[in-house]
Amino acid sequence: MNVTELARILKITPNELREKLPRMGFDIGYRAIKVDPKTAQMVIRDWPFLLRKLQAEDAEKTKAQREEMIAEGVVKKVIPIPAIMTVRDFAALSHLPVNKVLAELMKNGVFASMNERIDFDTASIIGQSLGVEVTLDESAGVAAQAAVGDKKIEEILGREKDSNLIIRPPVIVVMGHVDHGKTKLLDIIRKTNVAGGEHGGITQHIGAYQVVKNNRLITFIDTPGHEAFTAMRSRGARIADVAILVVAADDGVQPQTIEAYKIIQAAGLPFIVAINKIDKPGIDITKIKQDLVNKLGMLPEDWGGKTVCAPVSALKGTGIEELLDLILLTADSEAKSMRANPNATALGTVIESHIDKNSGPLATILIQNGTLRVGDQLILHGNIYGKARALKNYKGESVQEALPSMPVMILGLKMAPAVGDVLEVGEGERIKGKIEKVAQNRSAIQMKNENEDGAEMKRLNLIIKSDVLGSAEAIEESLMKINTEEVKVKILNKSLGNIIEGDIARAENSNAEIIGFNVKISPAIEVLVREKGVKVHTFNIIYDLIDYVQAEMKKLVVPKVQRVELGRVKVLKIFRTENKSQIVGGKVLDGQAKNNVRVEILRSKVMVAAGKITKLQAGKMDVPTVDINQECGLQYEGKPVIQEGDILQFFEEKEIIK
Ligand code: GDP
Repeated sequence: MNVTELARILKITPNELREKLPRMGFDIGYRAIKVDPKTAQMVIRDWPFLLRKLQAEDAEKTKAQREEMIAEGVVKKVIPIPAIMTVRDFAALSHLPVNKVLAELMKNGVFASMNERIDFDTASIIGQSLGVEVTLDESAGVAAQAAVGDKKIEEILGREKDSNLIIRPPVIVVMGHVDHGKTKLLDIIRKTNVAGGEHGGITQHIGAYQVVKNNRLITFIDTPGHEAFTAMRSRGARIADVAILVVAADDGVQPQTIEAYKIIQAAGLPFIVAINKIDKPGIDITKIKQDLVNKLGMLPEDWGGKTVCAPVSALKGTGIEELLDLILLTADSEAKSMRANPNATALGTVIESHIDKNSGPLATILIQNGTLRVGDQLILHGNIYGKARALKNYKGESVQEALPSMPVMILGLKMAPAVGDVLEVGEGERIKGKIEKVAQNRSAIQMKNENEDGAEMKRLNLIIKSDVLGSAEAIEESLMKINTEEVKVKILNKSLGNIIEGDIARAENSNAEIIGFNVKISPAIEVLVREKGVKVHTFNIIYDLIDYVQAEMKKLVVPKVQRVELGRVKVLKIFRTENKSQIVGGKVLDGQAKNNVRVEILRSKVMVAAGKITKLQAGKMDVPTVDINQECGLQYEGKPVIQEGDILQFFEEKEIIK
């Protein structure tokens, strides 16, 4: 029987059949045209079994190769990461330099700063390009946060003398399935128990509030929106002391209830189950408790277990006072871990952060130790984040200081930190040292840029005008990140306010473009712009601004070399594998295989390595080229990772003659 005929019956290509049969133990040549009828019959009969066996062997081989590659550092281990994390956390978890991650994000059209959050999908795409495989792990965020922030807080508190410590108000998070009434519960607690009553309603949402119960303060983290909630949950569970797991009496335990409970458990948080919506007709609380037993393995207190359940109606306000009493009781039983020194320098975790159009970066932090005062200098990971120019409590009132467990909004920061970041107050010589260090780093970076401003490097000169200092700095920070090997952005000047005549003159003299953010150009200035031929562009969205600057940068790049694709070879057999080379056999799929050129190894369309071809043979003869549909032998030099089935992409780089 013809090989082609047999292949057709088995629904594979003749070449695949030729490649598989010898591996299945049949004595069939690499270029065989015919198969004897007896063998053919056997192959057809046993094909599913043979194929499965081969696949199992392949899987074993791949596993072994992968382990070898991990050992050699060619590929990395699978890294568990949370659903949402900051770029910086992703870099830390995957042991990659932040700059590399930022650059890769940019290549993919994502212009994030290192404090911005990315989701799992983005992280896995970026990871793949950088040789890191990731897997989703909800508890990874908890672990990461514990590593960054909490250890530090624990360490600091551990060093405090007992006599300096006071019991601070407990911090509560509310978790549970969507629509089970978390928001409503937080609303009703705030409305009925807010300290000093509400002054005409709370206008400013700062992510947390405090209530008074039995003359004691309780802090509630008021997590808004689902995305922020997810991000906070992994970290937020750590800054809280007690969790309330809301379960709707008419819906019972749902997937997010289970997820929330896992996070509570991972963080080791004491918790209370609030059985909500008890005002609804036909509610059976016993059924819900049964659900807790069956789906979460919790045994309610009144059934002899440890789980405290509080039936409430967030809608009618039923059971709220009792819930607050239970919170205080639970907090008291954990009081040892709820202590802080109000006389220390402040340290706290960011619970909300954004850039306000008028006020610049705004961040709410929850003080975990010490007292934060107006005028304090704030530090994050050794960098100065600015001075607390003003502090506001959750009612939007200005306050002079914030004590442990108090949420407070800070005005005057230079950049918006990420939710979950730990801010510290620096003091005296320590902070002076850090300021100098940052300044030194800055000038070193500048020097480096200037040194590199040599022959090859192009420079895009910019003058930045913006509405507030915060946005100017955010723009500068983002622009510094889009610098490439060939083009660097140089900000000659940045200042606040609308574009004026002086800016045009400066741009003209220094061959710069003017970039405005949230500023205006008057008609008179427009005339001047046209007259002088200066480039002036204004933006309201930072991403548009960055897009524009990137496009301008691209215009300055003259490609020096051009890549020419020569052809592709499919690897059919591996003959020998050495430390840094391999000898393989394959077939030219298209174009031409050529000796002494570079190749990329593609597996499932993804490049796994690159190297060079140093010997090319056709029918045991050394040849300079092999054409389409021909088989050939190749000596490859590079990481020896080629597998059967891989595609070798042959290419050359030709210099462009100007
Ligand atoms: P979240 O998604 O967990 O924040 O849930 P919400 O607080 O937004 O509540 C979801 C829906 O349930 C809203 O329509 C609320 O009015 C309603 N709801 C919340 N609590 C109660 C309650 O105690 N009784 C009743 N009948 N409805 C409630």
